[in-house]
Amino acid sequence: MSKFSRRQVIGGAGSAVLVGGASVAKAAPNTTSSLAADVCIVGAGFAGLAAAWRLKQAGASVVVLEARGQVGGRSWTVATKDGGWVDWGGQWVGSSQERFYALIREMGCETYPSPNFGKTLQRSIYDASTYHRVDEDLNDQFPGSEVLKSIYRKLDDIADTVDVNAPWAHPQGRLLDSVTFAEWLRQNVEHEGARQFIATEVGSVPCASPAEISMLHLAWLIKACHGIGELFGAAQDDRLIGGTQPVARRVAEKLKDEIKFDAPVRRIQWNQKGAVVQSDSVAVTARRVVVAVPPSLAGAIEYAPSLPVNRTQVTQRWPQGIVIKVSMVYSAPFWRDDGLNGTSYDHISVMGETADSSNPPEYSKAGILTGFVYTDHARAVSLLPAEERKRLLLAEVARRFGPKALEPVSYHESNWTEAQWTRGCFTGFLTPGATTLFGSAVRDPVGPIHWAGTETSTDWPSFIDGAIRSGEREAEAIRKAG
Ligand SMILES: Cc1cc2nc3c(=O)[nH]c(=O)nc-3n(C[C@H](O)[C@H](O)[C@H](O)COP(=O)(O)OP(=O)(O)OC[C@H]3O[C@@H](n4cnc5c(N)ncnc54)[C@H](O)[C@@H]3O)c2cc1C
Repeated sequence: MSKFSRRQVIGGAGSAVLVGGASVAKAAPNTTSSLAADVCIVGAGFAGLAAAWRLKQAGASVVVLEARGQVGGRSWTVATKDGGWVDWGGQWVGSSQERFYALIREMGCETYPSPNFGKTLQRSIYDASTYHRVDEDLNDQFPGSEVLKSIYRKLDDIADTVDVNAPWAHPQGRLLDSVTFAEWLRQNVEHEGARQFIATEVGSVPCASPAEISMLHLAWLIKACHGIGELFGAAQDDRLIGGTQPVARRVAEKLKDEIKFDAPVRRIQWNQKGAVVQSDSVAVTARRVVVAVPPSLAGAIEYAPSLPVNRTQVTQRWPQGIVIKVSMVYSAPFWRDDGLNGTSYDHISVMGETADSSNPPEYSKAGILTGFVYTDHARAVSLLPAEERKRLLLAEVARRFGPKALEPVSYHESNWTEAQWTRGCFTGFLTPGATTLFGSAVRDPVGPIHWAGTETSTDWPSFIDGAIRSGEREAEAIRKAG
């Protein structure tokens, strides 16, 4: 018999009123149905899906409530007309992201090496009008690479001092958490070009401006992602045949009707024995809840009774970053004819980075370039009319790869900050002071409520791998608790 006895969860279809004998909720007036389960999971991104699937495998009954009409959250793959695909959200997997690789295999999906045919373009830190062609970023062909590498080493050294499970316990935690990355750069990097370069590159992980993130949180992020070398290197080694979202869709197939779509959760009424989770379309009575949504969205749910102050406060200091991902599909990867691999890094212009995101030729002959518009640039271009923004961004790509870049067959901007159920990406980051002020409130369960989502992972946070790990972590905690 399952360890997940339903004895304590009283309710079920039609009632949704009793948990452990205490009346905790009535279905909201517009809630059309009520369900009961051992565990209710909020959000069907990779974190929520991983939690639900592992719990189901362990014999628990689950209901997943998802606000959107699809699974995958920040992973969203779209088919192209010629049989290929484009990832509008997460696309790469690599390095020691073992939990994502394991799920890919388990779901019968496959990876392929990220295309890399030719040289990378890197804007000079000494002469801003020049792009250098290098074999890989920051190798010796790039003037100033030694300066930049020594700054990376300094950052890695700080990161090495952080305990990923308890960054707040760092002996100099309060100091490091009160120094912004901007201030650290001013104190440690004399050369302006180098400073801008590092700010853009390192800031691209949380998609935070240097003034809004602390050294402690940044160092934690670097450490939890295995250091700068892996973070900017091997983590991008592979792509998914068919894209990343199909992995999520296959997990969803295993969960079948246990996922309820178009069911944004508005309210969680709880006591020590369980909760009633109310969405727009269904209310679920459950013994445990896993909230697997970005932290600021977790904070937007109403909790009754309200959560402990540290938990309530921490989600108010955990905003989503901002980056616009631009997908440009061309009839062929023309940049390869010029000996370029499609990767470019630019610490000055509006387009901070590009990458060749083409599919293997047996699936599609198209050339796909992906561009990233980070933080302050993303905020600025968001204010422009769509046509003007497109002209500006394509002109920027053409400056690097030639006039063919001006005429994509298709063009799409994913501005996740405008997505109601995400509100920014790649990830949420803690603002200065928050790590040391609120400590373990980032993950500590509250009564029957557990917190998942990539932001809560201590291994590869901000990545799909971190999302999966966070869901599996909470599933295991619930399984162990019985
Ligand atoms: C443009 C972009 C590029 C990226 N590139 C990469 C990459 O190359 N490699 C990589 O590993 N990662 C990448 N990432 C990050 C990666 O996609 C995320 O870390 C990961 O998908 C997060 O998963 P999650 O389950 O934690 O959260 P999410 O994917 O955000 O899932 C949360 C789910 O909860 C739902 N939800 C929200 N609020 C509610 C509510 N109140 N009620 C019910 N449901 C709700 C949402 O609709 C969503 O489906 C990228 C992200 C973006 C946006």
